[in-house]
Amino acid sequence: MTGPRVRFAPSPTGYFHVGSARASLFNWLFARQTGGTFILRIEDTDTERNRDEWHQGIISAMTWLGLDFDEGPFLQSDFLADHISAADALLRAGYLYPCSCTREEIDERIKGNAKPGYDGYCRDRAVPRSATTALRFRVPDEGTTVVPDVIRGDVTFPHDSYEDFIVVKSNGVVLYPLANAVDDRTMRITHVIRGEDLLPTTPKQVMMWEALNRCAGVASVPLPLYAHLPLLVNEQRKKLSKRKDPVAVETYRDQGYLPDAFVNYLALLGWSPRGGEEIVPRSALIEQFRLADVSHSPAFFDVKKMTHINGEYIRRLSPEEFVEQSAPWVAPWSTSWRPTDRTVPWSEAQFDASLYGRVAPLVQERVATLGEIPAMVDFFFLDAPVTDEASFAKAIGSDPLAQALLGATVERFGELDWTAAALHEAVIELGEALGLALRKAQAPIRCAVTGTLVGPPLFESLELLGRERTLTRLRDALARSAS
Ligand code: GLU
Repeated sequence: MTGPRVRFAPSPTGYFHVGSARASLFNWLFARQTGGTFILRIEDTDTERNRDEWHQGIISAMTWLGLDFDEGPFLQSDFLADHISAADALLRAGYLYPCSCTREEIDERIKGNAKPGYDGYCRDRAVPRSATTALRFRVPDEGTTVVPDVIRGDVTFPHDSYEDFIVVKSNGVVLYPLANAVDDRTMRITHVIRGEDLLPTTPKQVMMWEALNRCAGVASVPLPLYAHLPLLVNEQRKKLSKRKDPVAVETYRDQGYLPDAFVNYLALLGWSPRGGEEIVPRSALIEQFRLADVSHSPAFFDVKKMTHINGEYIRRLSPEEFVEQSAPWVAPWSTSWRPTDRTVPWSEAQFDASLYGRVAPLVQERVATLGEIPAMVDFFFLDAPVTDEASFAKAIGSDPLAQALLGATVERFGELDWTAAALHEAVIELGEALGLALRKAQAPIRCAVTGTLVGPPLFESLELLGRERTLTRLRDALARSAS
């Protein structure tokens, strides 16, 4: 007896939706936990969507997330012959019938009908199959179809809410419900784990699956168990919208979310460990994840919570790992992958890798995403800091007190031992002499040297920046304030 076989079956869209990432992850976790097989099948039968770079996008997003597959990538379009032969078998056995109705004819006839949808006009007309006929599935008039769902229990769909749906269009295109079910049969999928948005189509697949099992000459394949994952919603509790919500995984990768943190957060979208912890490393996810523990209530895709988790993961990196992982954002010329549409504020010549190695621990404590690093450390590498005008006006402006402090600081910094501790001590004293608390005394110095009022710890930063560069910046700010 081999283990479960699951698949992730995305339709290419040009970007990797967070909902797809979650579906992919839950399949992967289930396979890894049960010793099963995880298959990637790209459902590319919509020719508009059949672009190689989009397929590559799916694979590279999965690689980034660390979701390795055991079989595939398969392309659904390669199985066209199977889809057609399944449709033929269903037709021969009478489960499908040719239909010659046009949309207009149907709309005209069904106006005012109590039951919406197709009225079964061609059901018993024995229309010969031709280049203008579609094939419809004969949905039984009575009874129900039951979808066995691990998360929701048995979900029962009455047949009278389904029309005789089209399986093969008049142009010969086999539609998704059949293609998807036939591939699941061929691949002997045991568990179909996918988004709740697909649940309404599932009864059609179950009906066809069971019909195929009764067709002569077609192998009987056990129906898989389904697991329809809860909807992802935004803060307004509305389904995530690709126009209004940031749903592309690539955007998060570019912003500097760590794949492990991203995976950890995705796992919490509909599932939580029994102990309720928020930080669940990958190995613990594999151990603790239970499909049956997935909730069916909508899951809030909370970017703030994800960012918080990412910050936690960043802090858990070793200093070396942090330097290495941040390279695409600080030294993109040295890495094989770099974030799209981002430029670093300094040039390769201005960047000093060994200085960055010393600066990095100061920012590792303070960033929630790797993309925040450049703005926080630019003053170390640029010849002069980028001055935020509002900060300058607030902390220095033309204030005589700030000028007195900066002047005294220049004097004092010229002679003391250049260590963070001595600098700290000196600023306390300089502030006291002018009646300023340390926080107030630090602000003009920080603004003069770094250009802003927020950033890594000041005295450690000054120590790393060095005496000469610090003094030049203090003098420049003083001159600007006095002019
Ligand atoms: N390719 C379809 C989609 O992406 C079906 C997915 C599935 O059955 O898992 O919506």
